[in-house]
Amino acid sequence: MLETFLILLAAAVFGAVFGSFANVVAIRTHDESSLWGRSHCVNCKTPLKIRHLVPVASWLLQRGKCTACGQRIHIQYPLVEVAGALLAIISVARHMPIQSEWPWILFEFFFGIALLIFLVMDARWMELPVEMMVGTGIIFTVWNMLLRVVSGESVAVVAWSHLVGFAVAACFFLLQWVVSRRRWIGSGDIWLGAIIGAVLGWPALGVAVYFAYILGGGAALVLLLIGKLKPGARVPFAPALASGAVAAIWWTPWLMAWLAYAFA
Ligand SMILES: [Zn+2]
Repeated sequence: MLETFLILLAAAVFGAVFGSFANVVAIRTHDESSLWGRSHCVNCKTPLKIRHLVPVASWLLQRGKCTACGQRIHIQYPLVEVAGALLAIISVARHMPIQSEWPWILFEFFFGIALLIFLVMDARWMELPVEMMVGTGIIFTVWNMLLRVVSGESVAVVAWSHLVGFAVAACFFLLQWVVSRRRWIGSGDIWLGAIIGAVLGWPALGVAVYFAYILGGGAALVLLLIGKLKPGARVPFAPALASGAVAAIWWTPWLMAWLAYAFA
């Protein structure tokens, strides 16, 4: 019991640190500035000290403001740090007892962190870094295929699954882009969808798209109702796609088992 608690606590700290890293990558990719070098307040440019860089805790202690100039710190910082912590906790909790499950835990966690970066960039600036997404897609596709083969699936089945996932996603989103004349989704969304298809493979890609529309539609409806969104306004789609992909990683095996049982 205590051991489980300590493992999850360590996962939360590890996840929050990578959430903080995701913030830095998103912002510096947007600014086209170097990934290395010290962070500073975006308003007064005062370099941040170590005590200002503790995920979530610094933000809480500073009451969401820069200690030098009092400028409000963008809510993105603590939210993404919390999201990183949750991703790590869930990735670990899903594979308890851990033992030899590390390659699966790390795959789920780091793919989630990569998606978090794209989610933030699209939500804040309607931008998606295509080259970074392609690189991420290649690494995680190979990683997931290796995990599946090691788990005992045949190489042919795994290869087909990822090829079909990629092709279905690319065609599906390209078609929407063409039919809607770019109004429903942007070209970056086609890339992100195709990459998620390649990484997850079929049928997980189908589950990801299903969740993406439910989550995206639900979020858009809530925003419309509380007046944060005007009818006809452009809505970033990557947050829904990224969330759908994570949901598919968590629930595809469970859903497939349920479908097999229901239709047996
Ligand atoms: Zn400042």
